[in-house]
Amino acid sequence: MHTKTLKQLSGLLKDKKISATELAQIFLTRIQQSDLNAFTSVEPDLTLAQAKAADARIAAGEAGDLIGVPIAHKDIFVTRGWKSTAGSKMLANYRSPFDATVVDQFRKAGMVTLGKLNCDEFAMGSANENSFFGAVKNPWDKTAVPGGSSGGSAAAVAGALAPAATGTDTGGSIRQPAALCGVTGIKPTYGRVSRFGMIAFASSLDQGGPIAHNAEDCAMLLNAMTGFDEKDSTSIERPVEDFSSQLQQSIKGLKIGVPKEYFGKGLASDVEAAIHAALHEYEKCGATLVDISLPKTELSIPVYYVIAPAEASSNLSRFDGVRYGYRAPEYTDLSDMYRKTRSQGFGDEVKRRILVGAYVLSHGYYDAYYLQAQKIRRLIAQDFQQAFTQCDVIMGPVAPTVAWDLGSKANDPLANYLADIYTLSTSLAGLPGMSIPCGFGVGDKNAQRPVGLQLIGNYFEEAKLLGIAHQFQLATDWHTRHPAGI
Ligand code: GLN
Repeated sequence: MHTKTLKQLSGLLKDKKISATELAQIFLTRIQQSDLNAFTSVEPDLTLAQAKAADARIAAGEAGDLIGVPIAHKDIFVTRGWKSTAGSKMLANYRSPFDATVVDQFRKAGMVTLGKLNCDEFAMGSANENSFFGAVKNPWDKTAVPGGSSGGSAAAVAGALAPAATGTDTGGSIRQPAALCGVTGIKPTYGRVSRFGMIAFASSLDQGGPIAHNAEDCAMLLNAMTGFDEKDSTSIERPVEDFSSQLQQSIKGLKIGVPKEYFGKGLASDVEAAIHAALHEYEKCGATLVDISLPKTELSIPVYYVIAPAEASSNLSRFDGVRYGYRAPEYTDLSDMYRKTRSQGFGDEVKRRILVGAYVLSHGYYDAYYLQAQKIRRLIAQDFQQAFTQCDVIMGPVAPTVAWDLGSKANDPLANYLADIYTLSTSLAGLPGMSIPCGFGVGDKNAQRPVGLQLIGNYFEEAKLLGIAHQFQLATDWHTRHPAGI
């Protein structure tokens, strides 16, 4: 039961082959027995109460694909009842008085919350090793990282602890962990998914999205997750769309842009081989490959690591020991309270970003760093628009390597930043991007570790991306594989 897709579970619930309560119990038991450290908090009583309510809705004959289906939320979405920690000591005991819009949307759709998922502190990281609650293990190989920052989300789906999860992506945090854990994830166009109640990291980049077993399931989740929200000032006003509408589209004649910058030095040969095989699969389905160039790809790392910390330094100023969460137990006066609270409450990576952010925004450096980065950000977005005059969709790797060993880069921030090379520019441009499983590599060990294929679409082309991904998943079985012992 636990390895079934969301679509299958939805069918079983509708046909009354299983109740929402039984289903929730199956996953709660698995979560309890798991050693992946994918969850930061579970509240079985709350989960079962939601399941009971879902069963009542099903019994009353209410229509809805998601009623009674379990989901778990990245611990960056504030959730009434459960703790909302953002993976930080700063919020380790914080309980929000309200739900994030996304949490609310899924609750209204009848989904049952299984709990909160571990993540890098304030979503800063690429390996989920920056969490106050400890690292998450990759279900394919427990000595490997799951990716980050939505590492708990991807590991929970891959480890069959939840059939679906929410994630957030600021520079790759849905796509990269989905790739490293062999599951499917989509980061929609910036503004599609409400940021209200999503604990802010870098507001001009943060975007929520779903992680599930396949594209079909992600489409069902996006149907509930998107829409205009007046509580989010950057929410986009567009009619609600049916993201499942283009799943049956034909690949014949599809022009796939293959950026040469995504296949340069730094790309591991095992990942490259899997990506080429996936592209060949698309050719067999009738697509053609077009060589394209995204010349500013390399600049996306310095640009992102100026802009994201700048916004983070501003967003995180609210954690001052007064308004939320942690306060240092001993201090002499108000400034000392701020200083000690923030020194004790934030982890190293968060402090590093606050320092960088405050520096690049400071008088005399603003023009040289922040403004310059914003200009290059615009050029990066223009490169994509140029590319989309030659192709319908862009494809390449999500990450340069398969999952690396836990601990191997934990003290090397730069090595983590470099691993974001293929995901950052999509985020900087605000475009939708997706990761689907397309094979396995071995890394530097003789272990099977998943590889993800990245699909990048033009603005608001989520439905098209999901359709292109679905066609691949009809032709291949990578997305149906599960780690041993699951
Ligand atoms: N790895 C990137 C970072 O550390 C992206 C994180 C994210 O998308 N939340 O900032």
